[in-house]
Amino acid sequence: MRIVLFGPPGVGKGSQASFLVDRCGATHVSTGIILRTAIREGTEIGKAAEQMVREGKLVADRIVRKMAEDAITDLGYDHFVLDGYPRTIPQAEWLTCFLAENEAPLHRVISLVAAEEVIVDRLSKRRVDKLTRKNYHLDFKPPPPDIPAERIIQRSDDRPEVVLRRLKQYQKDTSPVQEYYRNRGMLTEIDGVGPFEEVHSRICEVLEERRAML
Ligand code: AMP
Repeated sequence: MRIVLFGPPGVGKGSQASFLVDRCGATHVSTGIILRTAIREGTEIGKAAEQMVREGKLVADRIVRKMAEDAITDLGYDHFVLDGYPRTIPQAEWLTCFLAENEAPLHRVISLVAAEEVIVDRLSKRRVDKLTRKNYHLDFKPPPPDIPAERIIQRSDDRPEVVLRRLKQYQKDTSPVQEYYRNRGMLTEIDGVGPFEEVHSRICEVLEERRAML
């Protein structure tokens, strides 16, 4: 299974991807998670990317491309759910060529859709357990009471002023990627609003329909 989960920040790609991989035995490849790990560990890449991530700006293509390339190569070019990559047309073009060279084209690009006010609400109320890196939502999925309050933090790029920048950036640089895949007949749009399990079932239905290819 070679899938891209696409959509604006906060639409639920990460949560849906981790649930999906548990069920399908694929691996969740998130360039955002790889970058945040590199930043926490203070690697060279982490240091180079830290300010851009903190400010909600796109990290240089050559840096994220290397991450995607390494992760997909390590997986033998198969069994992955890409989340947060590609985010620009040059990234999408590179991915197409890279996968074609390795005879492993994408099976599907699933685009999760939600209105901007839903996204802003989700991002501003998102909280992370800094120990387990699990995501919570203050209203719909509050952190369990047995987790000490100091462990529950807000991502620096979920601050309101950064959220607005990320959404603008999405409109300008990332939403054209949707057209790129639509024009190639690879895109399925899915309503990303509603209870987590419902959205998950919608994704599974699409994948079920394409099971012959997976
Ligand atoms: P995410 O967790 O996917 O929302 O990503 C968090 C941040 O990592 C983004 O706001 C960007 O700063 C950076 N990032 C992740 N993926 C990419 C990408 N494909 N291209 C450029 N920057 C990225």
